[in-house]
Amino acid sequence: MRTWFRNVGLAVSTIARSMYVTLHTFVQSYVRRPFTAYFQYPERPVPIRPRYRGFHRFDLTTCIGCDKCARACPVDCIYIEKEKAPPPLKGFVIKGFKIDYTKCMFCALCVDPCPVDCLFMSSTYDLSTYSRDGCIVDFAKLPLDVAWGQDTLNPTAVQESKRITLPVWTKQAPAASGTPADGSTSEGSGGKPGAPSEGRS
Ligand code: SF4
Ligand code: SF4
Repeated sequence: MRTWFRNVGLAVSTIARSMYVTLHTFVQSYVRRPFTAYFQYPERPVPIRPRYRGFHRFDLTTCIGCDKCARACPVDCIYIEKEKAPPPLKGFVIKGFKIDYTKCMFCALCVDPCPVDCLFMSSTYDLSTYSRDGCIVDFAKLPLDVAWGQDTLNPTAVQESKRITLPVWTKQAPAASGTPADGSTSEGSGGKPGAPSEGRS
């Protein structure tokens, strides 16, 4: 008989404890404000962690077309189009640098092998597109500031890049005055995007 009462008491206390958790959560949902009250996207976007891996940042003016990033990608979603640079230039001219975001899993394995640090994961996490084709982003056809993450990777810029047949920047032959072989100008920081756009059709 005593065991029976103990089991009844245990059952009642267990139910009471679990109901308290339910009641507490129920009340809390009224006390605290909803998630959307804190972060009203896009005016007040959700803060992200410093090492967040968002859409890539790519510097066309620095890339040497070594293919190391494409080889490191486990899902083969980086497509690089390049051709030998005409003399007196050395190396390659990048004609296209596409990343297929329908396949990319944001692992960042493509970033570390880059010998010239021109590929990074950015903090951009939103890329709406007008079509599925918009998920394939050709960073060589995007404006340099957008590709390098100084401007939003927006669907309009991506859509506009689909109409461009040539890369927005190409290597220039060195001038007699001692202009750098990559044709970069003093605009922008450290030769990073901000340089004039060329090659648009
Ligand atoms: S983040 Fe990963 S999956 Fe995406 S392009 Fe880089 S290596 Fe490939
Ligand atoms: S590893 Fe870097 S330099 Fe080489 S192709 Fe990729 S982005 Fe360009």
